[in-house]
Amino acid sequence: MGEAVDMGVRHAVVAGGGIGGLTAAVGLSRRGWRVTVCERASVLAGIGAGIVLAPNALRALDSIGLGPGLCAGDALPGQVGLRTPDGTWLSRSDDGAVAARYGLSPQAVHRGFLIDTLVAALPADVVRLGVSVTGVEDVGDTVTVRTSAGDLRADVVLAADGMRSVLRGQLFPAHRGLRHAGEAGWRAVLPGTGLPAQQAAETWGRGERFGVVPLTDGRIYVYATAVSVPGARPADHHEELTRRFGAWHDPIPALLDRLNQRNPAPVAILHHDFHELAAPLPRMHAGRVALLGDAAHAMTPNMGQGGCQAIEDAVVAAHLLAQADDVPAALAAYTRVRHTRTTRISRRSRRIGELARLSHPLAVSIRNLAVRATPQTLSLRALDTVLDWQPPSATVSVTEQR
Ligand SMILES: Cc1cc2nc3c(=O)[nH]c(=O)nc-3n(C[C@H](O)[C@H](O)[C@H](O)COP(=O)(O)OP(=O)(O)OC[C@H]3O[C@@H](n4cnc5c(N)ncnc54)[C@H](O)[C@@H]3O)c2cc1C
Repeated sequence: MGEAVDMGVRHAVVAGGGIGGLTAAVGLSRRGWRVTVCERASVLAGIGAGIVLAPNALRALDSIGLGPGLCAGDALPGQVGLRTPDGTWLSRSDDGAVAARYGLSPQAVHRGFLIDTLVAALPADVVRLGVSVTGVEDVGDTVTVRTSAGDLRADVVLAADGMRSVLRGQLFPAHRGLRHAGEAGWRAVLPGTGLPAQQAAETWGRGERFGVVPLTDGRIYVYATAVSVPGARPADHHEELTRRFGAWHDPIPALLDRLNQRNPAPVAILHHDFHELAAPLPRMHAGRVALLGDAAHAMTPNMGQGGCQAIEDAVVAAHLLAQADDVPAALAAYTRVRHTRTTRISRRSRRIGELARLSHPLAVSIRNLAVRATPQTLSLRALDTVLDWQPPSATVSVTEQR
């Protein structure tokens, strides 16, 4: 891989062109860094699913100039809440309440749209497709990045190579890696045409959940989860979903029917086991290499915060690196600012999963009663520490202490 090096401009290599890696690339290139993103896939395409960008992530994206494009669509419409399989609402907050409290409404977008928006904000030569990062060697003043297309020299490496991060394994060989979270999930994006307007809701049964999220582009993102053992795969996803959820409240049966339609094109149903880091990393950096997003803190999807935290990480790392000449000091500050927050959110996400997948009827009744008895303001207030996050400005500096 030939490199034309401008001695005056600092160079960052980002391993992984997912949500976190591309956000970091935008943050750094807009601050004058030369950035190379190595992405092992040969095309950059968000997987066929939706993602909810919570107010904390929207603020982060706005701080690097990406707010207007991403907030152009409709916010999550109407009521957002939790239901039981017969349709009873356990909790319901209208979108106005979220916007009033946090100043922004969550946006549910297709992952492809998010990836396209990030790539469009980068200079044309930044992303190198079909290039895998295989290792790093910190040689003091710089770091050598080993890739499938040859070596690169960088001032800093951002390891955004996802939950199965090769670089995490290299930097923290004693870490236990991933553990299965006891569940698997399905995801799909449906055309919304001809269907009545949908309300965003998650429905909790016994060890099973079904979610409906209208996307800003008019499509409908649906997901479902079930208690599962590692590697279990139903023979037919649609049949399995219908067996589990076909008798649940409206509009779930109609959405399942649409999932099975082949016209205008068959709907792709994704199915994955859920994993999370078996334990927090001791820190989120080593020398001139920082980990971000799922590479640093793969968490369960129960809070919808994995991608949002990857975006926060990326924005904070770019801010701290731009402020300091001393890269290792900037990355040490990055660990100080990000480690506790992401560890707490991962833990909280796990606990929500434990509640959501209860299956004993008595435990489910008690859980549902407790959720119903919690006032809306209290449920919202409980999210303050997550959603009220502000992007760094003068408030986060390399010298900031935990
Ligand atoms: C069911 C489900 C629902 C979710 N819903 C939400 C939600 O609503 N909101 C939210 O915020 N989060 C959500 N998440 C979490 C979110 O998807 C992840 O946290 C997020 O995608 C992490 O981004 P990332 O950039 O760290 O990693 P990834 O998106 O995994 O990107 C990593 C990239 O690195 C590339 N790569 C890997 N290894 C290498 C290598 N060696 N060299 C070069 N490239 C490499 C990969 O090809 C990939 O493109 C959900 C997760 C699941 C499973």
